[in-house]
Amino acid sequence: MSTISNHMPTAELQALDVAHHIHPFSTQEDLQKKGARVITSAKGVWLKDSEGEDVLDAMAGLWCVNIGYGREELAEAAFRQMKELPYYNTFFMTTHVPVIALAAKLAEMAPGDLNHVFFASSGSEANDTNIRLVRTYWQEKGKPEKKVIISRWNAYHGSSVASSSLGGMKGMHAQSGYIPDMHHIDQPNWWSEGGESTPEDFGLERAQQLEQAILEIGEDKVAAFIAEPVQGAGGVIIPPSTYWPEIQRICDKYEILLIADEVICGFGRTGNWFGSQTMGIKPDIMTIAKGLSSGYQPIGGSIVSDEVAAVIGATEFNHGYTYSGHPVACAVALENLRILEEEKIVDTLRDDTGPYLQEKFRSLAEHPMVGEAQIIGAMGSLALTPNKATRAPFKAETGTVGYMVRERCFANNLVMRHVGDRMIISPPLVITKAEIDILIERAWKSLDEGMANVKAAGLF
Ligand code: PMP
Repeated sequence: MSTISNHMPTAELQALDVAHHIHPFSTQEDLQKKGARVITSAKGVWLKDSEGEDVLDAMAGLWCVNIGYGREELAEAAFRQMKELPYYNTFFMTTHVPVIALAAKLAEMAPGDLNHVFFASSGSEANDTNIRLVRTYWQEKGKPEKKVIISRWNAYHGSSVASSSLGGMKGMHAQSGYIPDMHHIDQPNWWSEGGESTPEDFGLERAQQLEQAILEIGEDKVAAFIAEPVQGAGGVIIPPSTYWPEIQRICDKYEILLIADEVICGFGRTGNWFGSQTMGIKPDIMTIAKGLSSGYQPIGGSIVSDEVAAVIGATEFNHGYTYSGHPVACAVALENLRILEEEKIVDTLRDDTGPYLQEKFRSLAEHPMVGEAQIIGAMGSLALTPNKATRAPFKAETGTVGYMVRERCFANNLVMRHVGDRMIISPPLVITKAEIDILIERAWKSLDEGMANVKAAGLF
């Protein structure tokens, strides 16, 4: 076989790709028909594809490249660490400097008494850890029957069997099965499900479903509640202001452990270091991944409170991954955190570029096919609708119109995702005002072109 490289014609790369590579969340038919876009390099917020096109990545990869692409310092940190100690584990009474340094750094950054970290290589693994952590916690407290974890429909907590059961994506449950002792309540998505209620009443009502679920299942059986401070993969659903205070009240009242899944919200995405700070909540456990290394290395983890750590620490926690606290991943994450802090990337987003992005993004709600534009920090979504007043869905399978708009974004060299008929963005936090202008211009153009196609299909 000839050497496969960037210099090969795109069509040949695509043919080999579809012949041998199974893609996540894609259909073979689409890949066969259209060919996957081959990304060859990237810098800042810009991807370069094999045709030489410059594509604005308004999704930061998969919500993870917070510091932007192409930071050589991270490559150098990996190189240095690989030469010194490419691998060692932290099982059976050993440790190493990068894992010590990263755990200590995270303890310093995380709010409250979240001072202890269990490492994994991804958000899915970290949420699997959380399931075992909370069950072990209650066993150690003499309440082994407290096993049920309450989550929300349309939540995303990962792709492993356990974390996808924890998540609320019905399509995933249907394919992979569903582990026991998981329970889902409804999401605080006012646009789609709020009916005639005000957002505030609706937020309260959805939060109170947690209390109802605890009472129905039995307080003595519920171990924890897990949620993303702002739902990401569910469509960037920013909950009404009444939602989180009520959830916190209920968790406190029934002594249910609160797990904040910060995989997307963590490390600046919402304009603070953690989404829990933006939403004013006090979790017992936080799931982290993605922005921890800005995606340069696979790393995730669970940060737990002093109390949870003390209870777990009373026994041997029979859990661990070969790559828990991988030294190269830790070294890269540390360098990423150094850059985020020293270059004041989160502060700049909160005080300067964030407000600019938010104002421009909200102006997309003036487009005839956009019902609402919701944004917090640097994560936002547009609800597409044929009728802004009634918030009606399109007369087509959900996602048909979203997909049509996404196709136009792709053609206009803008990576924007669709979740059903919501269009979502989550750009690198280092995006500049000039790049924000380009993002908004391309989004508007894609909405216009998408709307023309939607009209031609008789859906608008
Ligand atoms: N939790 C949340 C909130 C996520 O958004 C994701 C990934 N999109 C995960 C968990 C799973 O992370 P990973 O893909 O790294 O396993």
